[in-house]
This record gives sequence, C-alpha cells and structure tokens, in this order.
Amino acid sequence: MMQAIDEDDASLVRGLTAAVEALQDEAVALLSALVREPSLLGQEAGAQKIMAGTFAGLGLEVDTFAIDEAALQGMPGWSPSLISYDGRLNVVGVHRPRAARGRSLILNGHIDVVPPGEAARWTTPPFEPVVREGRLYGRGAGDMKAGIVAYTMAFKALRSLGLAPAAPVYLQSVIEEECTGNGALACLQRGYRAEAAVIPEPFNQTLMTAQLGVMWMQVEVRGRAAHMIDRGQGTSAIDAAFSVAAHLRRLEAAWNEPAARHPRYAAHAHPVNFNLGRIEGGEWTSSVPESCAMHWRLGFYPGEDLAEVRGRVERCVAEAIATDPALAGCAATVRWAGFQAAGFEIDPGAAVLQVLGEAHRAVCGRDAAELACTCTTDARFFALYGDTPATCYGPEASSIHTVDESVSLASLREVTTVLALFMARWCGVEPIA
Ligand SMILES: [Zn+2]
Repeated sequence: MMQAIDEDDASLVRGLTAAVEALQDEAVALLSALVREPSLLGQEAGAQKIMAGTFAGLGLEVDTFAIDEAALQGMPGWSPSLISYDGRLNVVGVHRPRAARGRSLILNGHIDVVPPGEAARWTTPPFEPVVREGRLYGRGAGDMKAGIVAYTMAFKALRSLGLAPAAPVYLQSVIEEECTGNGALACLQRGYRAEAAVIPEPFNQTLMTAQLGVMWMQVEVRGRAAHMIDRGQGTSAIDAAFSVAAHLRRLEAAWNEPAARHPRYAAHAHPVNFNLGRIEGGEWTSSVPESCAMHWRLGFYPGEDLAEVRGRVERCVAEAIATDPALAGCAATVRWAGFQAAGFEIDPGAAVLQVLGEAHRAVCGRDAAELACTCTTDARFFALYGDTPATCYGPEASSIHTVDESVSLASLREVTTVLALFMARWCGVEPIA
C-alpha cells in the first residue's frame, strides 16, 4: 500500500512538473500583463482587474472588496493610511471543494509595487516587461507579481491534471503591502482564515522562519531662521536634522550589538536597519533653513512591543535635543505614519514549513535554506492576528526596489511546481467534477 502511495506521489510530482512546464508561456504572458500595469500606491485598479479576470477564468468565485478603513482602525496590526481607499480593491479567488477533507490554505500576494525611481537609469523602461537571458525585467516583476503568477499557475497546473484541492483555498491579491499592510489586514477583517498561509515573496526559494518589525517615522526638526548676515544667530534645521540622525544611527548600532539581538538573527551581518529614505528642508538658498523633515524606516526584532519601540526612539530624539550642543535652541517632533508592523517568528517544525520543505526537496532535489528576514511582509497578519501559521516561499529576484528589477523564469517555474505539489499534499486533491 505504502509503495502504491509513493508511486502515486512520484507520478504526481512528474505530472505537475510537466503541467507547469506546459503553462510556462502563459505564466510569462500573465506576468508581462501585470508588469505592464503600473500598480503604484493608489493605481492598483488595472492590475487587480487582470487578477479578477484570471481567477474567474480558473472557475473560482471572485470576491472583490474595498477596504473599510473605519472597521480596520480598531484592529491590531492597523497602520495609519497614507491616501484614501476610494476605488482601491482587494481581489480574492475562492475555491470550495466538493468535500472538504484536507487542510485549508491561503495563498497571498501583494499587487502594489514601489516607485521605479529614475526611469532613465533602467536599461529598458520599468513598466515595459522584457525577457533577457531567462529573466523577466520590470518594476514589480520579482516583488511580487511573479509570486502571484506562481500560485495562480500552481492552481491551474492541478486543474490541467483534472484535480482540485480537497479543501478551501483562497488566492488573495492585495494592495498596500509596501506601506501599511492594510490590504492583507482587510482580508482578515473580511473573515478569511485558513490552516496555513504562504506568500511567494521573492526570497530565493528559502523558507521564512522570522521577520523583523518595521516602522515608518517622520521627524520634523525646527531650527532658527536667520539671514546670511547673521548666520551665527540662526541654527540650520538641515544641519540639526543630520545631528539628530547621528543619534539615531547610534541607537541602530546598539540594537545590532550581539547582546541586543533576537537569537534568529545572531549570525546576520547587520539585521536592524534604520533607513533615512526621504528628507525635505529649507526655503531659500540664502536663508538659514527653519525646518527639515526626515522620513525614516526603522527595523526591530520579533517579540518587541510596538509602543515600547516607539518610546525608545522618541526618547533618543528627545535626549538628542536636550543634550547635544549642536541642537541648542532646536526642536523636534516625531510622527508615526505608514508601517507600524510587529515582527514575528514561526517554529521551523511547524507543519506548513515541513510540508513546504518536503515539496521543495521533491521538485528541486535539494534542501531549502531557512530565512530570518530583515524586512516585513504581510505574513505577520496571518501569524499574529489571524491564528494562521504563515511563511514566505517564492522565486529568485534581483534589484527589487531599485533599477533593473528582474525575476528568474526558471525559479518561477520551480516555485510554481513546488506550490502546486504543496497544495496537493496540504489540501489533498479531488477530481474535478
Ligand atoms: Zn514584496
């Protein structure tokens, strides 16, 4: 009997590998169509329309819904939004089995992409997908439209073998992963739960076992204005901002000290990163600047309380103003907007990681490495607030968040096969009616 099951499984692996191979052109076409839609913050509608149509084409029930900001505000994990939610939709493809025998599953991906930066620095325009030497180039190709394509084609590969998951499966395409995570939170608010969630973020086919917390902070520094004649009477807000920044850099260094680290990050070169991502200041070339705004992205460890982290950072800024002679007469106000995201870890022995790791081994013929991630992902919502064990497993991509972003199409094909096999083993399968 065991022999028969092993043979069935081996033929399933072969069948899915061939089915995914046969769907590769369609996968590249879907990925290209998605990259062509510049789904920047607030401009997600075109790409989401493609996903709604794709889910409908797979015979899934399509649940399209707006984000109810009033309902989300009271929920843990909410981050203050940056722009209005009018007309900005999440799309979920819902599979309901005829007989639910297996474990339910959420496959989630974010449709939003970060700005392309200077388009002129790209080898080819950021929103014109191009395949070169086995890689598809374009903003969002790796992060993470390829992941969305992978789980979509994984579901389709099962169908092409006449099979469907024998448990509820929810294919979620969400907005705002890159700034708040409120798109994924809205899926929780809508009631979506499962026995596991997998997000194919482009982490080079590793199994994610932890992710850092991330916060966005704005520090408004005020100096004292003066004409150039009286420069000694004024304090430049821009100079003052850099003095405040030096204090934040010391706090960052302290959090990276070996003794301060979370154990999952013990071997990492520099896990906690404070990024000064934007700075605006000054009014006139011949006037001493009165104000300067710094926009920071701060990392912190899993298990740390958000209010406590905010308190430590606010004390750092307040102490800088109170004690640093370079900041005499200056003031600073701290505001928190955008990400207020806790970190989390998942037990490497968790069933979802075991089954996913075995699927990776069966398809790729090697073990998947574990990843303690230094950024945040939407996985935190499922893990921390949705009672759903969550991880990330996705393709190899390069230059995400910078120019010439690309994804490996060979890796996309492997990930698609792994996700299809994982789905079959996690959910079980039933013949399509
Ligand atoms: Zn991403």
